[in-house]
Amino acid sequence: LYVTEALKEGAVVGCSSNQAHYLRSVLRLQAGDPVTLFNGEDGEWLGSIDGVGKGWASVSLERKLRDQAASPDLWLLFSPLKRSATDLVIQKATELGASRIVPVLTQRTNTERLKQDRAHATAIEAAEQCERLDVPEVTEIQKLTTFLSDWNEERLLYVCAEAGIADAVSKVFAAHQMDRPAAILIGPEGGFTEKELAFLNDRSFITPVSLGPRILRAETAALAALACWQSICGD
Ligand code: SAM
Repeated sequence: LYVTEALKEGAVVGCSSNQAHYLRSVLRLQAGDPVTLFNGEDGEWLGSIDGVGKGWASVSLERKLRDQAASPDLWLLFSPLKRSATDLVIQKATELGASRIVPVLTQRTNTERLKQDRAHATAIEAAEQCERLDVPEVTEIQKLTTFLSDWNEERLLYVCAEAGIADAVSKVFAAHQMDRPAAILIGPEGGFTEKELAFLNDRSFITPVSLGPRILRAETAALAALACWQSICGD
């Protein structure tokens, strides 16, 4: 379970009401049962449930199970989609190890809203499920061009672009310099506009990437790119 409190031996930690519901009604756990906790900083801890009721649960920490490992430094930039597709991208990007998820507004982005609480809750649930020990930040929506104008050029940006002369993802990721942080950008359902492509191509830190001969839905493209990154570039 993800909590925000500090984790150390002997600490008693409170759970959210959703977590209490999950412990009590889904897992049917009771006082004395073991659970594991993480907070993104102090590693993974084994605790035992002190008590669990409707809307509350508390856990006493016993011992550390895993140290906090350094997370991969890979951002995912994507244009927000319909609600369920956005949820899917956040869930899968968390499972596939993205360290930061940045919804970006492009000229053809159809939805300009993203419920921050829901996005954060989706990332927490996915992190708990896949047993990573941190939760990726899901930022507020950023305007793509403004966001890239402030970009730290040390971070390489791989732009998934289905048309044109992009090299295959396997070739591009295999050539990634592992000491440089990276980000992957996925366009909206309608694709990038010519103006955006020209803007992107003017940046020294971008490399276009092809994910194969078929046009993928944006959510499929996000998952495919992240899965390729994980298999080629490691963690
Ligand atoms: N009609 C749009 C077009 O032709 O530009 C299709 C956009 S596609 C549904 C949504 C996004 O997924 C694209 O902007 C791109 O980032 C990514 N994508 C889809 N298929 C891809 C592929 N084969 N290679 C690389 N990126 C792809």
